Amino acid sequence: MNPEYSKRIGILGGTFDPIHEGHLALSQAALARLRLDCLILVPAFRHPLEQKQGATVASAEARLEMTRLAVADKPQIEVSDCEVKREGISYTVDTLRFFRKRFPKPAELFFITGGDWGKSLDQWKDINAVFSLAHFVIAKRPGFDTQHLPPQVEFLDFVPLAISSTQVRGQLQQGIFPQPLIPGRVLTYIREHRLYRP
Ligand code: ATP
Repeated sequence: MNPEYSKRIGILGGTFDPIHEGHLALSQAALARLRLDCLILVPAFRHPLEQKQGATVASAEARLEMTRLAVADKPQIEVSDCEVKREGISYTVDTLRFFRKRFPKPAELFFITGGDWGKSLDQWKDINAVFSLAHFVIAKRPGFDTQHLPPQVEFLDFVPLAISSTQVRGQLQQGIFPQPLIPGRVLTYIREHRLYRP
């Protein structure tokens, strides 16, 4: 991707353990509604609120590879290994500083997150620096309570698909292959590498 021509860049972080159609639907909605030139998916090495979320199951390398496979046919979406290479806890503020160097102003960065994370913003490292580095966009269901969120937060109306990685892992652990929930190439990778087995 040529930084010169990329003016509006979206960044979507997550554990992607594994990536599923809900992540892809959110990516497409963000590209279209925020009029992004490109969207970068950033698999976390270690999520900062891991205690809450539970540790990841697949290795960072496997999550990265599955994410790459899922978007291999989507030219506007790329996958970054910056958090995996950095190791340690994957703080958003560090990631945004990294991308700010790669895409200097006047390029605009849009950090996108699902509505579920809006409630824990007070626990994010250097949240004010995060706000100054990028537009902070919460994908929210229509009707989502936005009252207690800081004024810097912007919104993207989006009805999330009823899918989570937890649900996908649960099905795989029971020996169910959840074909419509995850891209075929990702499912093949999971099978070949015998991931998420009981
Ligand atoms: P887990 O079930 O393991 O907690 P998850 O399915 O929520 O995982 P993450 O990798 O934590 O997936 O999510 C990355 C980002 O995608 C987050 O901002 C999250 O809010 C958003 N997201 C997750 N699932 C969906 C979905 N079904 N529709 C839209 N956005 C989603």
